[in-house]
Amino acid sequence: MKMSSVLKASVISALGLVGYNQYQATDNAQERSQSAHQRAEKVAQSAQFKDGKVISRLPSFPSEESMSSVMWKFFFDRGALKPSHTLPHQPVDIAALTQKSDVMRVTWLGHSSLFIDIDQTRVLVDPVFEYASPWVAKKLFSRNVEAPVTREQLPMPDVIVISHDHYDHLEESTIRYYANSNVQFFVPLAVGKHLEAWGVSPSQITEFDWWESATVNGVELIATPANHNSGRTGFDSNSTLWASWVVKGRNGSFFYSGDTAYDSHFKQIGDKYGPFDLAFIEVAANVKEGKGFPVENWGHMQAKHTMQAFKDLKAENLFPVHWSTYELFAHRWDEPMTDLIVEAEISGANLVTPMVGETLKMTDDLRTSYWWQEQDFKLANLPITLQN
Ligand SMILES: [Zn+2]
Repeated sequence: MKMSSVLKASVISALGLVGYNQYQATDNAQERSQSAHQRAEKVAQSAQFKDGKVISRLPSFPSEESMSSVMWKFFFDRGALKPSHTLPHQPVDIAALTQKSDVMRVTWLGHSSLFIDIDQTRVLVDPVFEYASPWVAKKLFSRNVEAPVTREQLPMPDVIVISHDHYDHLEESTIRYYANSNVQFFVPLAVGKHLEAWGVSPSQITEFDWWESATVNGVELIATPANHNSGRTGFDSNSTLWASWVVKGRNGSFFYSGDTAYDSHFKQIGDKYGPFDLAFIEVAANVKEGKGFPVENWGHMQAKHTMQAFKDLKAENLFPVHWSTYELFAHRWDEPMTDLIVEAEISGANLVTPMVGETLKMTDDLRTSYWWQEQDFKLANLPITLQN
């Protein structure tokens, strides 16, 4: 694109944004100021917040690796750990999903994004269809696998559930896409301010503190604890809450971990709401021989922690998420699963590992194949740059 075209495009998009925001401002000003007031009151009363910030409970495990070495690897070595070519996926069976379902059905949209049918109700969890970063850094967090469906093709969900405001869980373009639909948004306390800024009416948003619940068509959704952090700009750290979610219907139940370090909350949730048919839990690679940075210090779990969380929850099946789609840690892209399979062999846990895009019915045999082992994926061995 020539410079003049770039300028023209920028001016048009800037005008569009200004116009859009002004429209929103006049249309919703009163509703939004009321919503901001209610949010501030709820934050002031929440046991999770202190002085407007969520209290951090992140662990701090010592590491033999220095922080500068970790950061170097994160910025310059991560690209080498991606697969050398795009991972396979199954295009989502739109015709099947168009028919609502009593039986619980789950469709993995990649990373931590899930489309779940239960009791004739559609729950869309942490929907991300593009990249896991702000637009300017999108090449640094590009996908290893295509999105298996577009937002336009996917049947309209009844409720969109968000775990926290990080880019790989909360995508602005997706929220804007659903802003003018009838969908309800269930989000952790204070996350609603992002949604309102992107055009969602406060009346569509319900904000949850931990242990609060609501029902949609008789399906109960409960926001439960997690041990993580939040923020989108570097200047707003921990100003919004993070959560995991329990969903219980007549025809099944599941738990979704969001992002979290291992902590006592898994046992609490298992005791209070378990057992579950299925647990979607995040996974990263184990630290081996003292090498590598413990991801728990960033609010994530090594495979051994994922397995312990699964046991605490008393779930029947373990569906690992937060892997395959983006390179977010300095380990080989499939190392979390290599480690988790070993953990599952020891504990006898049933791993559910569909391809991205595949729909599983909870009445079917859930034993799925290790599809990524069926092809010889080389490592990309490329540095990550803004150009590739
Ligand atoms: Zn996160």
